[in-house]
Amino acid sequence: MERVRFAPSPTGPLHIGGLRTALFNYLYARKHKGVFVLRVEDTDLNRKVENSEAYIHESLAWCNISPDEDPIKGGEYGPYRQSERGDIYQKYIKVLLDKGKAYYAFDSGEALAAAREKDEKEKGGFKYNAQNRMRFDNSLTNTDKETAEKILESNTVVRLKVAPGVDVMASDLVRGSVRVNNNELEDKILMKKDGMPTYHFANVVDDYLMKITTVIRGEEWLPSLPIHQLLYEAFGWDSPKFMHLPLILNPSGKGKLSKRDGDKNGYPVFPIQWKETLGYREAGFLPEAHLNYIAQLGWSPKREEELMSLSDMENEFDVSNVQKGGARFDLEKARWINQQHLTKLSAVQIIERYPDQVAALNAIYGEKTAAIVELVKERLVLVNDLKTTTEIFIKDPIEYDPKSMKRISKFDVKQVGELIKACIEIHEIIDLKDAFVQKGEEHGIGLGAFMQLTRVAIVGSLSGPDLFEMLKILGKSVTLKRLDRLINITL
Ligand code: GLU
Repeated sequence: MERVRFAPSPTGPLHIGGLRTALFNYLYARKHKGVFVLRVEDTDLNRKVENSEAYIHESLAWCNISPDEDPIKGGEYGPYRQSERGDIYQKYIKVLLDKGKAYYAFDSGEALAAAREKDEKEKGGFKYNAQNRMRFDNSLTNTDKETAEKILESNTVVRLKVAPGVDVMASDLVRGSVRVNNNELEDKILMKKDGMPTYHFANVVDDYLMKITTVIRGEEWLPSLPIHQLLYEAFGWDSPKFMHLPLILNPSGKGKLSKRDGDKNGYPVFPIQWKETLGYREAGFLPEAHLNYIAQLGWSPKREEELMSLSDMENEFDVSNVQKGGARFDLEKARWINQQHLTKLSAVQIIERYPDQVAALNAIYGEKTAAIVELVKERLVLVNDLKTTTEIFIKDPIEYDPKSMKRISKFDVKQVGELIKACIEIHEIIDLKDAFVQKGEEHGIGLGAFMQLTRVAIVGSLSGPDLFEMLKILGKSVTLKRLDRLINITL
């Protein structure tokens, strides 16, 4: 049974990269009929930001990718918040100390800073590892008695004892095998002075205890892989499979996608609103479309068709199509995918899901609202476009588009306008097109003039949905009123 986990640190809102990691974990779990775990890695108390955990739950819920086990739901392997697992880390650090795979270190910050400065000057770099650990104040350089006293005297750290000179090998499902010589590594701190575990230690212990079979995370964690591998080996545990997802690059392809970049170029980087900053939800993206887009940041499905529902993705997700190279963010593509998903929804579904967007329309048109939404649906890119595209059904156009006015000024607006009004008086709104054609023939005026003028009167410009459908909804009196207004303006 595959078990995967999304393990965010609650240090702020989730960004696109974090959500993509969650999604890939979710898809992998569903594809393999496995379990998707959410573990909150909140051991770094200085970086913890209030409400971030709630934000993570809400974002995943909006996207419909809620975990099977998490801090709220619980599960067989809880607690799922690392801050509640202190006893477990204490127990497992003792295991490593007893095995001689870890040791206490008592060095002061000043002593380390001085050593670093010296080594950087003399050797061009500093590492606390097998080459120099005997220079420092730790349980390897103190007697057992001294060590015991020092542990009692002050808070100490525990470091991993990395064996010198051998290669550590780890493998990644996307990148193949990763090999690093241990001499490149440091004796990483596993337990901090405040008694809290470091990311590396807690992460490995929890992945093991939570029976995680595949670790799927962002590429920024690849440098940690050798240390994690060494930790598994130190415990004598089998390591899980690893898959590091490619970076998400900004639209220019130069550098990582950042919030600053999003602010500057007007696209969100968060799924939902965080404090003052709006997310994709508020910008009018459908969650299923947002997921469809971010799934393609690093994964190219085999099929040609780019539009996928969540269940399509669950069925088709395949590790072998996850790329190594960075994935460039493309707002236009994200918008296009959103538009395509919107057209797939029925008007009734849109109204049910976004009642606020159509509240004003509903107050005037009641049951007819669905017909209006159907009419404008093809023109929507974002859900929020509903308000602007349906405005003409709520109020008369305030301004007329100058270009459109120039176009209709080629006709005798008063004459054509009066003919249109006559058609409406006789035929009501039904069969208006035939009436326009007939009247046009009588006066030697093309159908285009009738239609363009009516459209400008109704919409304020030469754009908008099907004219005759719009007229049917607006009705005779509103249409006549708007025609009169245009005729009077152009007189
Ligand atoms: N807590 C790490 C993060 O914030 C988890 C990395 C991992 O998945 O191992 O992304």
